[in-house]
Amino acid sequence: MKKILNYIAGEFQPPDSKTFLENYEPATGDIYSEVPDSDKADVAMAVAAAESAFSSWSQLPIAERSRILLKLADLIDEHQDRLAQAESKDTGKPIALARAVDIPRAAANFRFFASAIVNHSSSAHVMEGVAVNYTRQAPLGIVGCISPWNLPLYLFTWKVAPALAMGNCVIGKPSELTPMTAYMLGELATRAGLPPGVLNILHGLGPKVGQAIVEHPRVKAISFTGGTNTGRIIGKLAADQFKKVSLELGGKNPNVIFADCDLEEAIRTSVLSAFRNQGEICLCGSRIIIEASVYEEFKEGFLKQVRELKVGNPYRDDTAFGALISEDHMNKVLGYIHKAREEGGTILVGGGRIHPEDLGGYFVEPTVIEGLDPDCSINQEEVFGPVVSLIPFSSEEEAISVANGTAYGLSCSIWTRDVSRAHRVAHRVQSGVIWVNCWMLRDLRTPFGGMKQSGVGREGGDEALRFFSEPQNICVKQ
Ligand code: NAD
Repeated sequence: MKKILNYIAGEFQPPDSKTFLENYEPATGDIYSEVPDSDKADVAMAVAAAESAFSSWSQLPIAERSRILLKLADLIDEHQDRLAQAESKDTGKPIALARAVDIPRAAANFRFFASAIVNHSSSAHVMEGVAVNYTRQAPLGIVGCISPWNLPLYLFTWKVAPALAMGNCVIGKPSELTPMTAYMLGELATRAGLPPGVLNILHGLGPKVGQAIVEHPRVKAISFTGGTNTGRIIGKLAADQFKKVSLELGGKNPNVIFADCDLEEAIRTSVLSAFRNQGEICLCGSRIIIEASVYEEFKEGFLKQVRELKVGNPYRDDTAFGALISEDHMNKVLGYIHKAREEGGTILVGGGRIHPEDLGGYFVEPTVIEGLDPDCSINQEEVFGPVVSLIPFSSEEEAISVANGTAYGLSCSIWTRDVSRAHRVAHRVQSGVIWVNCWMLRDLRTPFGGMKQSGVGREGGDEALRFFSEPQNICVKQ
């Protein structure tokens, strides 16, 4: 049985407690590795390692920091296949998706921020004849990066890369459900020449080791992606010590389909946005709000393509839809489908557990439901699985009201050929990320994050560089 280890001060080591948790393979339901059950003793060791590394890392010339991070990006590319296989095994996601999206994006994250720091400039404010002010973006020191299980290496590196680029030392914690690629990243970091202690990776349970990272007084900021309830706990704990926090949380994202859109493209992309990664992406569109005059036409085309989705063994190259992350999560998703039936919904396709190729893992069919009130639980709560609800609307006003009618505000896709309407609706939808006639088209320079209960703060581009640094103004009298 493979034993995953913590990565502290450039060395792999077991947790201080010497106890391990079981790691399941979602496609089969088998235990296939063990994960350290770390606690605050491991956090203390990681903090000590980071403290001794901070001074030289933060003072390293930017070009040298950039060079090491670019090398790490190259190593991720070099090991793309091995990493993709590990990601697919750990999450149940199709290997093709891990190859095309997860692992290339992890390399892109390091490459992007390694380049961003060499092009980054700070501001100066001249008081003519009196003084000059210049603003230094000082690294914070030690920062915590806590990430979820749905896009493991992609989201872990989305935090770690800007934090390191700005000269911080990191204590990272991937999800206990998907530790493998973060573990493999440690080895690549050493090979890239990252000095010991600059990046430390601890594994284990959120309320135990995750919370110990948040609570440690020497950890200056927490960048967190995960559920809204966890974000609330972390926000409260961090506020106690006036720590900076970035919280990227859940969503209940609408796709708004106007009758004048390119319906064929809207259907094709809505199938992707509903079921990519088994619907386990925070940006998935789980409420499809459709103008009544094209509702039936959209529904027919949508259901046809959903039925054609290649569901099954994630290790086959042509699989488009794999297993859910865990038995608990599968039962949660099935529970929501059951509730949707009770609340009067009609299941148009899917609705149950399946066992492709007799695999014993956690597979749930892509599921489409109609006939539910916008206020019922499945249209309000984040399912984070392959369940999508179709909702008709009759006016632009109604579409906006339904789109905004949840506690969340992460992303929204608007489908129309009317440019004025696209802008008008976009400005009124309360979501941090709006796509017009597309979905998940990402430019890493743009601010990324949610409104309302979908988060606090923004990641990406300059926003991330600002988050992982502290402006210090220096005023020099002339
Ligand atoms: P989660 O909140 O259960 O866990 C996320 C991470 O936080 C894990 O590493 C976990 O161990 C850790 N954690 C849990 N409790 C903690 C605590 N008390 N203190 C510190 N750390 C703790 O979320 P999840 O189930 O792993 O991920 C699914 C959620 O993530 C969904 O709600 C999804 O929408 C959200 N998500 C959001 C984004 C975004 O960018 N907004 C992206 C991906 C996923």
